[in-house]
Amino acid sequence: MKEFRKALTFSYDDGVRQDERLLALFNAYGMKATFNLNSALLGKEGALVRNGVEIRHDKVDPEKVRSLYRGHEIAGHTLTHPSLPLLPDEEVRRQVEEDRLALSDLAGYEVVGMAYPGGGQNHDDRVAGIVREKTGAQYARTILSSYSFAPETDLYKLRPTVYHLEFEKVESLIDAFLASEPETPQIFYIWGHSYEFDAWDFWERFEGWLKKLSGKDDIFYGTNREVLLSDAWHGKNGL
Ligand SMILES: [Zn+2]
Repeated sequence: MKEFRKALTFSYDDGVRQDERLLALFNAYGMKATFNLNSALLGKEGALVRNGVEIRHDKVDPEKVRSLYRGHEIAGHTLTHPSLPLLPDEEVRRQVEEDRLALSDLAGYEVVGMAYPGGGQNHDDRVAGIVREKTGAQYARTILSSYSFAPETDLYKLRPTVYHLEFEKVESLIDAFLASEPETPQIFYIWGHSYEFDAWDFWERFEGWLKKLSGKDDIFYGTNREVLLSDAWHGKNGL
């Protein structure tokens, strides 16, 4: 495998039907992403108000999960999207591990990652410790932007580089990432929810970002799992 010093990865939460349009964009531009699903909520319909706009929050049907996300990574987001710091230990474990096992069945491969559900304080040391020690999850993403491309040292409190709604930050990070010629492996990690493209009406702006980032022979385009858990893309001694 060719060795890279730069990797780009995306993470999208909740498994909503807008993921289908997002996947078409990712596939058109050769991007790889991870989708964090709540297995016990699949198929449920709903609506949300975001940015003053009512938008659909309909979950992907369980029978469509495998084919829809083919070529990308399916990861966990707990069974029912509770605030994990409010739950007792055993319920934290159950929410994470039963979701992971149910999604593994739907995906047809072992699911190894997750994103903590909810805003605000959605994880703490206790929760991260339970995920690390009592579940099969090998990484867990937070919602705290690092604004950095440096690889994260704690994969159970994994910080993304930036949230996609931080538009100006994203755009300056894209320019910095494209211009960089790092000596050591660097990871650009963008996350969000696909329903936010509807609420903020920025599908086209996002496509512009993908266009800019696509087709670079010095960037490895990988799922979270490929970027975080494998050293194949940067060579064995890179980190
Ligand atoms: Zn969520």
